[in-house]
Amino acid sequence: MARKCTASINLSAIKKNYLYAKSLAPNSKAIAIIKADAYGHGAIEVAKELNEVADAYGVACIEEAIELINSGIDKTPILLLEGVFEKSELVLVEKHSLIVAVCNSIQLQWLLDADLNRPIDVFVKYDSGMGRLGFQDDSFIQAINLLEKSNNIGEITLMTHFSSADDLSSTLTTKQISNFDNTLYAKKYPVSLANSAAILKWSDSHRDYVRPGIMLYGSSPFPEIKYPKNLIPAMTLSSVLISIKNLKKGQGIGYGSRFICPYDMQIGVVAIGYADCYPRSAIDGTPVFINGVKSKIAGRVSMDMITIDLTGIPNPKIGDCVELFGENISVDEVAKYCNTISYEIFSKITKRVYRSYV
Ligand SMILES: *Cc1c(COP(=O)(O)O)cnc(C)c1O
Repeated sequence: MARKCTASINLSAIKKNYLYAKSLAPNSKAIAIIKADAYGHGAIEVAKELNEVADAYGVACIEEAIELINSGIDKTPILLLEGVFEKSELVLVEKHSLIVAVCNSIQLQWLLDADLNRPIDVFVKYDSGMGRLGFQDDSFIQAINLLEKSNNIGEITLMTHFSSADDLSSTLTTKQISNFDNTLYAKKYPVSLANSAAILKWSDSHRDYVRPGIMLYGSSPFPEIKYPKNLIPAMTLSSVLISIKNLKKGQGIGYGSRFICPYDMQIGVVAIGYADCYPRSAIDGTPVFINGVKSKIAGRVSMDMITIDLTGIPNPKIGDCVELFGENISVDEVAKYCNTISYEIFSKITKRVYRSYV
């Protein structure tokens, strides 16, 4: 690895965060959400780390499930959070005993019509107010009625997803919970409602299965970035200084000369850019960490490089390590400067970034 742009991942932090999620919902099983390559942390490595403790895994599609199975993760149940996208997938679902979400009438019909030797366990999704996937009111009841009668169906669990659990002042979560509870079947079957934000703050929603995602990786689902102090950041993204130069007052830096030096300055170039995952939307002043102190971005993010202000940095040299986020700078803080969320930054980490596991 010549170019030292590295995502260093602390697997035991992910395990601790998982156990913390479980401690907040002690009567619930916890489905570790490891879709999108475990939010960029590496689904296989994360699943192996959690294998002793995880009640189940949640992924977005069958390809993500098969990747886990092929790497030997075949004891822990795997839930396809969006169900299948084609009827033909049900062959693999049956073969590998995957659990599928049933979110619409087509998926329902595929299951009812399938020619199976063994029943498939399902999570039937109710749209309690997200307005995205899931059956609405009467069609939810009808779907359950049909599934109950079918020999193709094993265990039935009911699921819904919150639109605004990260907004503690919103009334929508309480409304979604009561919409869910008002459906006839909420007491008859096991249920699953809570994402990370709800695990942390809406204990009324914990029920039978919780679904922690972002909190496993030590990032906050809340805009109040410092909130969950018990979460341990799992990823440190870093690279190195590859150039140092002295610029005069009034000189511009990088594309569009967005940053103009307000005085004579020393500027460092760091080997990371938007082709690695670092958002091009990062504004001047976005924090970075170098030689034990905070510094900040000066100038637009390029494809392979960023430029940072070295004013006041102790003894900067080419090759010095620069942390973009992780132990010293919260990814949530960086995400705010970039007008995005940690979920997007994590899941956009490209293959050019070297991953190391500790
Ligand atoms: C991604 C996802 C989650 C996890 O959400 P976080 O906010 O990352 O905790 C939970 N449930 C469903 C259905 C999801 O798609």
